[in-house]
Amino acid sequence: MSFAELGLIPELQKAVADAGYTEPTPIQRQAIPIVIAGHDVMGGAQTGTGKTAGFTLPVLHLLAAEHVHPRAAGRPRCLILTPTRELAAQVEESVQTYGKHLPLTSMVMFGGVGINPQIAALKKRVDILVATPGRLLDHVGQKTLDLSGVEILVLDEADRMLDMGFIRDIRKIIALLPKQRQNLLFSATFSPEIRELAAGLLNQPVSVDVAPRNTAAETVTQKVIETDRERKKELLCHLFQTHGWHQVLVFARTKHGADALARTLDKAGIKAAAIHGDKSQGARTRVLSEFKEGKLVALVATDIAARGIDIDALPYVINYELPNVPEDYVHRIGRTGRAGMVGEAISLVCHDERAQLKDIEKLIKRNLERVVIEGFEQSAHAAPRPPQAPRGPRKPQPGRAPAAKTAQKPGGPQKHRSGSRHR
Ligand code: AMP
Repeated sequence: MSFAELGLIPELQKAVADAGYTEPTPIQRQAIPIVIAGHDVMGGAQTGTGKTAGFTLPVLHLLAAEHVHPRAAGRPRCLILTPTRELAAQVEESVQTYGKHLPLTSMVMFGGVGINPQIAALKKRVDILVATPGRLLDHVGQKTLDLSGVEILVLDEADRMLDMGFIRDIRKIIALLPKQRQNLLFSATFSPEIRELAAGLLNQPVSVDVAPRNTAAETVTQKVIETDRERKKELLCHLFQTHGWHQVLVFARTKHGADALARTLDKAGIKAAAIHGDKSQGARTRVLSEFKEGKLVALVATDIAARGIDIDALPYVINYELPNVPEDYVHRIGRTGRAGMVGEAISLVCHDERAQLKDIEKLIKRNLERVVIEGFEQSAHAAPRPPQAPRGPRKPQPGRAPAAKTAQKPGGPQKHRSGSRHR
């Protein structure tokens, strides 16, 4: 099936061809005709499935097809809400990419940056506004934004927005919109809260659901390397050095841990930086673009900071530590193997993380392959430690240096060695 067969106008077909897309992804095949037909949509799709184009293309199609009288300044026709600044910026970038042959205008709006340039931009025509909820409400409060002309509302990553406590802001925003409008809601997971939000928001929605929820993309190879907590840093450096990796997204559980790990990698000659909530917006944007340009080999992120990071063809995701919430594992590895590209997700797992690993395997309904790296095997009697315990620097242990030649052996079925489980 081609984009032309989906009924998209030639300007959009040209833009997707320029982007190098030859055929629509499953979510695009399902969602585009439904949105064009004017229906509300409840979309189950993770990042990486092509969902952004799945809603952006038909929105552009609808806005371009309907010639309305020139809009007043600062009065958008489509509002796209996202949970994070990064995602907002990336979605607006997609709007520009796909809308480049159309005379439509777009704007991105998020907090953490000066409000005045945004106020200035709102003095001009804005057809499509991509925003995070907090800053949007600031503008409403200052009367610099008029939401009375919104014809289409998109909630992207609605589950994340609820996780991040935006429900009240979302409800306030919805109350400011015209009653007559089209609504599209996308979410990777469907909790009772999301269903409740959807029930109040969507009008006879058509459901589109591409990936079975809470399962990882099939194009991602997932492996577990069992080792000891104390050896993880050394092992990670070793993996970088022996594999010649590039563009690796590494997940750490805490901001402090992310900073420390980035420093360790950097000292070992692996250019790395950390991205987390304590970094300023400027620093986050800079680090992200350095990573995209290949100036940084590794980006160490916390779960919150990584939400919405969209990098084409990210080949590797490393879980330096497993997340406490198993769903976060699925979100993490969703950063690789996008739109059919192959990706590899490797988790370094120590004794005290076995329970988390078990929960993850239960959620994704499969056992992950175990790989042993010679010289870094998990010691049978390693003392388990609660995950929250402070971690002090450890001296490398003499006699445990990795073998000059490292072999990777696929592990057999999970062996339960000694060591109790800790949550
Ligand atoms: P998303 O799920 O929207 O974050 O998209 C994931 C990635 O897939 C983005 O980098 C897009 O550029 C890419 N993409 C979207 N649609 C297609 C397509 N039809 N063919 C190839 N790549 C695509």
